[in-house]
Amino acid sequence: MGEFGMNCMAIRYGDDIVVVDAGLMFPEAELLGVDIVVPDISYLLENRKHVRGIVLTHGHEDHIGALPWVLSELNVPVWATEFTLAYVEDKLDEHGLLDNADLREMRPNERFKAGIFTVHPIRVTHSLVDCVALAIHTPLGVIIHTGDFKIDQTPVGGAPFDLHAFARYGNEGVLALFSDSTNVERPGFTPSERAVVPRLEDLCRSAPRRVVLSCFASSIHRIQQVIDIASRVGRKVAFVGRSMVDNIEIAHSMDYLRIPDGMVVRPQDIRSFDPKRLVILASGSQAEPMSSMSRIAVDNHRFVSVDENDTVILSARIIPGNEKPIFRMLDNMFRRRALVYYDNSAGTIHVSGHASQEEQKLVLQLCKPKYFIPVHGEFRHLFRHAALAHQLGCVSGEILLMEDGQVVEFTEDRAYRRDPVTAGRVLVDSGSLEEIEEAVIRDRKHLSEDGVVVPIIAIDKHTGKMDMQPEIVTRGMFSDNGQELMAGAREVVLKTVEQSNAEEKSDWGVIKEKIRVDLKRYINKHTSKRPLILPVILEV
Ligand SMILES: [Zn+2]
Ligand SMILES: [Zn+2]
Repeated sequence: MGEFGMNCMAIRYGDDIVVVDAGLMFPEAELLGVDIVVPDISYLLENRKHVRGIVLTHGHEDHIGALPWVLSELNVPVWATEFTLAYVEDKLDEHGLLDNADLREMRPNERFKAGIFTVHPIRVTHSLVDCVALAIHTPLGVIIHTGDFKIDQTPVGGAPFDLHAFARYGNEGVLALFSDSTNVERPGFTPSERAVVPRLEDLCRSAPRRVVLSCFASSIHRIQQVIDIASRVGRKVAFVGRSMVDNIEIAHSMDYLRIPDGMVVRPQDIRSFDPKRLVILASGSQAEPMSSMSRIAVDNHRFVSVDENDTVILSARIIPGNEKPIFRMLDNMFRRRALVYYDNSAGTIHVSGHASQEEQKLVLQLCKPKYFIPVHGEFRHLFRHAALAHQLGCVSGEILLMEDGQVVEFTEDRAYRRDPVTAGRVLVDSGSLEEIEEAVIRDRKHLSEDGVVVPIIAIDKHTGKMDMQPEIVTRGMFSDNGQELMAGAREVVLKTVEQSNAEEKSDWGVIKEKIRVDLKRYINKHTSKRPLILPVILEV
């Protein structure tokens, strides 16, 4: 609720809790040095003996990315479809958590029990393969969680959106619907994944030299279409970038990706391969630092370089917040005189994986829920999705706008808002799964904005006197007026120490704190900066 990422919802009946999704969020730039952000699961930990398991709707990071963190705190069964499970296994293996994990495969349309709940996975279409919505049967009625979806009538993988299941539940009665709000600002229908084919095929056919195409590494459908197009226009394909190669391997080994024999050129053979007969699929569509695309753009990639008249295609959404690095990368491609395509202005090269208004309306109409709760969006998306439902008039009870941590309780005849539970974010170093305290981030911000000051004083342990002039080391603070300020700062430290009594001087904690406070006041007065001050005392 209220943001993209960290999808995680708990459904409780009596003593049974089932959790839908455990996603992460990628940190904003302000969160210096934080790799990932995961949901605060205090509520689940407080109720650990009641948690029957976690059910995953699909394999995107904003739905499964927090699993290693969550399972390391709370090892419960995890249900997911075949493909999602393959991603999860990979992820857990990376963190050494795979051996102890209780992973259970679920199949669309096959119901299973999780505590008191019966869960019915329903096939939906999205930008990833093997995605499901969940119909969760509770003693009070059925709750439907759509997961991420669009209604793709001509899906690349073949498995259609199961509209019938939604309709059936609508006829039988749906207690509550939780539905994807991402694209509520877009009127009409989201085009099918296939909508990119004509333009991409055109570009690949007419490209004078090699084609470098980047999409999300998880966009298996998109990758399939590029492989098919390449084969139709007489080109071979090469894959570069770890996430691209990993994803393709997983999908290929599970038959979610069909690659004709002899179609693939190894990365190390790219340079010697006829550029007119090659399409390179590269990861890094969001210009992630060190990704293949970022390296190629500055001609620092081992196997791929882009030259005049090479074609560069960005077949991915520019995620808000990533505009700067992406456009910097594209600018570098233009500098190399490549032919660069990155938007849909002259034909569709990218389509969204989320439902637009008409599809959202259709799901609402089919489900006719008693209660409707928009999810998966910033607050304005949730609000507009609520307004859309209101306009349709197909919600018989109430439309509820919720925020993180808020609790709604359904009874036989009503819905009540209950006291909120702890919710929020935990900042994590993805390598170690260690939590990073907010205080650490505050320090880092501090350091980045105001620098650091280290006053060093030497105190004679016998006389309690300062043995020499205090030394002050700074980083990231002064440029030209530094000398004068430093002299003043040394005076301040000197005075602070001199004015302290023998007892204070022998207690280093006290003397450090006094120096810190006085120096802070002095520096703040003269520079309006608030650097991190770390006094060091040497005993001589
Ligand atoms: Zn998704
Ligand atoms: Zn999502």
